[in-house]
Amino acid sequence: MRINLSPFNQLLDLLIPLRCIQCGTIVETQDGLCTACWPLIPFITKPFCACCGLPFDFEIEESALCGICSHKQPHYSTARSVFCYTTESKNLILKFKHTDSIGSAPLFAKWMARVIEDVDDPLCIPVPLHWTRLFMRTYNQAALLAREMATLKGWTYDPSLLIRQRRTASQGHFSKEKRRTNVRGAFKISDSKKPLLQERTVVLVDDVFTTGATLTACSKALLKAGAKEVHAVTLARVVRSRGLEI
Ligand SMILES: [Zn+2]
Ligand SMILES: [Zn+2]
Repeated sequence: MRINLSPFNQLLDLLIPLRCIQCGTIVETQDGLCTACWPLIPFITKPFCACCGLPFDFEIEESALCGICSHKQPHYSTARSVFCYTTESKNLILKFKHTDSIGSAPLFAKWMARVIEDVDDPLCIPVPLHWTRLFMRTYNQAALLAREMATLKGWTYDPSLLIRQRRTASQGHFSKEKRRTNVRGAFKISDSKKPLLQERTVVLVDDVFTTGATLTACSKALLKAGAKEVHAVTLARVVRSRGLEI
């Protein structure tokens, strides 16, 4: 994951040393992590479910689906995540979510842009927060990631197309079924933006894929309002066999 530096960035590096986003050690490249922290982050690599991106523990053909997706295809066409949510990686998410450490957004967006499937000129849309929560938290981390991804890829970014129309309870300790009912019908498309969505491919961005309930509810609303297909991308993914549950 080497990134070529522009002369301007090389100059910046001389003036402000880059630090590992995990431990704070000074690093020499823009990869974001020091050599000690890098191997501790469980980046997701193939093989994984062709639809939801669930990593498999065994070699299998690329088109293989996991049990859940072969039982019932999700509303999104694909979902991809950068790393599994584990003790080591959760710090990156929590720092980004609950403090003002938003400087990592461009780096995270770069990682996310690498894992998404090839999509042609999509609308890039974040999973929205309800305005009351946005007011309390001051920023939507999914929107920061979506905006950075859109800038990086030259996509259209639209944070106001998808709306969270009712405040949902925090999904914290809900079961999979409870998460599904909690977000059912929680999202809608802004009436004035509906024409922009017709027959468009959407890249839907969130920070964490937990059970997929939120991404499913958003995808359902987007498809019903006229989107052609939805590709979801998140920074982290909860994988039961590989780490923490949230
Ligand atoms: Zn480090
Ligand atoms: Zn799957």
